[in-house]
Amino acid sequence: MVTDEAAREELADEPYKLELIGLKGSASSDDGADVEVGAGELTIYDNVDAKSGELCWKDLCRGPHLPTTRNIPAFKLMRNAGAYWRGSEKNPMLQRIYGTAWPTKDELKAHLEFLAEAEKRDHRKLGSELDLFSIPEQIGSGLAVFHPKGGIIRRVMEDYSRKRHEEAGYEFVYTPHATKGKLFETSGHLDWYADGMYPPMQLDEGVDYYLKPMNCPMHNLIFDARGRSYRELPLRLFEFGTVYRYEKSGVVHGLTRARGFTQDDAHIYCTREQMSEELDKLLTFVLELLRDYGLTDFYLELSTKDPEKFVGSDEAWEEATETLRQVAEKQGLPLVPDPGGAAFYGPKISVQAKDAIGRTWQMSTIQLDFNLPERFDLEYTGADGSKTRPVMIHRALFGSIERFFAVLLEHYAGAFPRGSPRSRRSASRSATRTSSTWRSSRRRPNRRGCGSRWTPPRTGCRRRSATPRSRRCPSWSSRATRTCPTGPCPSATATARRRTASRSTRPSRRS
Ligand code: ZN
Repeated sequence: MVTDEAAREELADEPYKLELIGLKGSASSDDGADVEVGAGELTIYDNVDAKSGELCWKDLCRGPHLPTTRNIPAFKLMRNAGAYWRGSEKNPMLQRIYGTAWPTKDELKAHLEFLAEAEKRDHRKLGSELDLFSIPEQIGSGLAVFHPKGGIIRRVMEDYSRKRHEEAGYEFVYTPHATKGKLFETSGHLDWYADGMYPPMQLDEGVDYYLKPMNCPMHNLIFDARGRSYRELPLRLFEFGTVYRYEKSGVVHGLTRARGFTQDDAHIYCTREQMSEELDKLLTFVLELLRDYGLTDFYLELSTKDPEKFVGSDEAWEEATETLRQVAEKQGLPLVPDPGGAAFYGPKISVQAKDAIGRTWQMSTIQLDFNLPERFDLEYTGADGSKTRPVMIHRALFGSIERFFAVLLEHYAGAFPRGSPRSRRSASRSATRTSSTWRSSRRRPNRRGCGSRWTPPRTGCRRRSATPRSRRCPSWSSRATRTCPTGPCPSATATARRRTASRSTRPSRRS
């Protein structure tokens, strides 16, 4: 361990290290600087020759270092690339060398195979090969356009989601993309989220307008537009709401981390007594819907209070956290604790889903909020005429449609199942009457594009998921290695009979 002074002296001819010394303790993981100086105290790690005791090499680093690469059973240098110093294009460009190290050669081999598979499935690559979407430079980083074929898939996804939400008692609302800054002052976003927002536009003699990064404040205004009675609760407001977030250029990544995207966002207002049942129904609904789209392998994460940073009473937190825990446990899925991981305004459950090659994606989040109802002074009139604050639940199911689209595109390796997703009930009814899915076939690109790049199977399907047959949907089930792509489903409510019939007009013969 060294003092700042001593380190400055020792590293006098290393300008970058000198800069890091000043960051000690405050270094962020965004640019990797925390690896070297994140612990709050400075360490110079010395590599000493075991025999002679001679200093071979030293570095400003928390360590440890290996004396030689001979000690690593299996490693591979992957690539090198130019990288701006500390991630800012204002700084000089340095060379960054990427590598991977493993305990055994077999594990390294498996990892490299996994990477090759992931690369084949990269949604940015498939998106352009299949003519699904693009992110034109003329529009800007992280702002995608969907092409007609991508539009078909997106519409099928949205239509099905809309239908299921309607059935589950959600009411549809619409809100604008921009708003006066005052709204985000009330919500607190300008205090704690301003960095993630696009800068304001000044209109109407100096009034600041912002693109919205979240829909919640506007939904609160809808709740508050008139007096609410306990008889209206739970009130479930749903919107495909497009939001804009200023992501740093270094982290923008295709559709999975974009600057403009559409959330399948809902806010549920209920009484404290309704909270438990509502959360229970909500989690079941979320998991069922994800299964309908073909994701079947989940675990749940429960993020609990950060004792340093929270609003609301301890009792409210305890009750809410306990309710979330019970609701999560009822699902019989692995539940991973995330202590201190909650946002300051309430605990949350997130659903983590595994895709076809075993990668975990955070999908849906269900978040309790004790803060916004307070800030917006939301109230309903109880049975006895008294005014009470509702409980507010934020819930995004896909996260964003763009991101979910990308996850499914990678999960299915571009070979989307035919038709639209189907609920488990209708699946079990029709499973016996159809050969349920299309087996994969060699892709044969032709001018007709995505819908005609697959041919249907000659024989029945292969089922490889552990989910029982009766519980799986025939058309949007598991594996990417089979099934046809986007053939637009005539309607989301097509019957099994119609589906059987439509197979005779399969894409390969639609000419
Ligand atoms: Zn929200």
